[in-house]
Amino acid sequence: MKVDWLIVGAGFTGSVLAERIATQLKQKVLLVEQRNHIAGNAYDYYDEHGILVHKYGPHIFHTNAKHVWDYLTQFTKWRSYYHRVLGVVDGKQVPLPFNFNSIYALFPSNYADELIKQLIEQYGLNIKVPILKIRQTAKGEQLKFLADYIYDNVFHNYTFKQWNLKPEELSPAVTARVPIHTSRDDRYFQDIYQGMPKYGYTTLFQNMLNHPNIKVLLNTSYREIADEIQCKKMIFTGRIDEFFSYIHGDLPYRSLDFKFIHSEQKQMQLVATVNYPNEYDYTRITEFKHLTGQSAYGSTYIEEYPQAYKSGKNIPYYPIPKDEYKDLYRQYRLEADKMKERVLFAGRLADYQYYNMDQAVARALVLFKEINR
Ligand code: FAD
Ligand code: UDP
Repeated sequence: MKVDWLIVGAGFTGSVLAERIATQLKQKVLLVEQRNHIAGNAYDYYDEHGILVHKYGPHIFHTNAKHVWDYLTQFTKWRSYYHRVLGVVDGKQVPLPFNFNSIYALFPSNYADELIKQLIEQYGLNIKVPILKIRQTAKGEQLKFLADYIYDNVFHNYTFKQWNLKPEELSPAVTARVPIHTSRDDRYFQDIYQGMPKYGYTTLFQNMLNHPNIKVLLNTSYREIADEIQCKKMIFTGRIDEFFSYIHGDLPYRSLDFKFIHSEQKQMQLVATVNYPNEYDYTRITEFKHLTGQSAYGSTYIEEYPQAYKSGKNIPYYPIPKDEYKDLYRQYRLEADKMKERVLFAGRLADYQYYNMDQAVARALVLFKEINR
């Protein structure tokens, strides 16, 4: 079979590139996906109870990049949605990211007033401060106490469950994703654009890939068809170490096991996600109806159990953001650079980057610009 482009992986990265190449360059694309569906880890479907669920864990769209939002808006309408998370701390459900409301929920009001006054004095109002930074810089006994309290009760055990590492053993950017807010803003994300695709992610992808220049081949891994396809150029969005047959060793990943539970209750928790830093083997529970706005009798929720990644046994969900693995990744990047006239690499797995969906889209759009130069 002859095509202009072979793209491996039908997640955000591969699908955005397929769409751009098909519609803007008017060239033929074969999009190959090893799973039995498009949409990568953002895939959603209606479960046997008729509830729209996310197969690979809860996905909430948020971005500050107008061009990314505008681009996706061609393929979906949006349901306005601001993600809310409560974390169980000292037996109470308090807002996360940790903010003034969390302080008032946990401490007597006079003491809370004092802590907040000191936070504002040192860091300013409406500022986001990563936990590792607060721990290093907090002045005075009370703020030092608060920093240790948040670290111990919100970050330490959750991070250990999620990564099997302590917060300071990972890139500081990991815990900085959920910074302490010197405000009363309870939203999990503060991005300008936030929402859920009105008819789900899979429909968004169907609209993106619905073009005569795009053929999608499911249930097929790259290796199965590599010898049979003649293409001018290829884009690979799978694991970069797998592509190069692990010549420099395996890049490490973290995996998850998901447990879906259906309840006859109309609603089982107050907000979409409740985090359990200190209890249970799972890190969080997400109830899908909060995200999708679906009205139905029962409700389906998901528990996330972090796992070691084991090749062939589970899915490599998270690249592990740690300097030594960046060095290993660079060795693969050098291999990739040697073949850049024929094969391009991009995406969460190929770039070995902890991308959110909007970053994967932005990365694909930048790569398309380079292709189109
Ligand atoms: P993927 O979606 O992983 O797509 C890659 C595709 O390539 C996969 O479908 C895979 O099967 C296929 N593939 C790989 N190798 C091969 C091969 N050899 N042959 C054929 N096919 C292959 N982001 C957010 O913005 N908000 C969230 O709330 C959010 N929640 C998340 C929750 C979880 C539990 C996880 C794991 C991620 C979450 N993300 C979230 C991140 C989001 O999933 C990624 O940003 C996005 O999926 C990256 O897209 P991608 O195309 O690079 O990778
Ligand atoms: N984190 C934490 N406690 C929480 C929430 C987050 O320690 O209650 C840390 C943890 O290390 C986690 C990281 O912050 O992996 C990023 O959290 P986020 O919710 O962004 O994770 P994701 O949705 O990507 O799994």
